[in-house]
Amino acid sequence: MFEKHLFPPGKRAYIDKKRFSKNNESCILCSIIKKEKDVITLLLDETKNFVVTVNLYPYNPGHIMIFPKRHITKYQELTEEEVVELFRLQKRCMKILDKVYSPGGYNTGFNLGRAAGASIDHIHLHIVPRFKNELGFVDILAGSKIMVETPYEILEKLRPEFEYEK
Ligand SMILES: [Zn+2]
Repeated sequence: MFEKHLFPPGKRAYIDKKRFSKNNESCILCSIIKKEKDVITLLLDETKNFVVTVNLYPYNPGHIMIFPKRHITKYQELTEEEVVELFRLQKRCMKILDKVYSPGGYNTGFNLGRAAGASIDHIHLHIVPRFKNELGFVDILAGSKIMVETPYEILEKLRPEFEYEK
């Protein structure tokens, strides 16, 4: 039921929702990590323990996410090493977003658990650039926001900055 509210219209254009139900075996983020052929990955970068991708359903231009390669469903399961790696990577991502998009600000963080609105159990950190004069989050949730940039356009702009070789 949360999924209905958390993604802009057009979700079905990218993935078959039924394939990625609630069990770990069909976790979409694990599928991205495994580079499964029929999954659109939108990969930007990869470190020892994490992956950076463009969000499949960007709320805003430059919306990306970082997630661990391990299927972790609780933030508390991250090791000390992973915590440090994650926040270093977040900083790097934001420097690149600053350069490419020059946003006025950011919303960045996790939705942890279904009760908090997480639609995917595998933890993932959102980095959402915010711009002056854009529509508010309520407009996004109401589905009235127009997607001003597709995930592929975001990928094209950001990938050269990450210099990630697929
Ligand atoms: Zn997973």
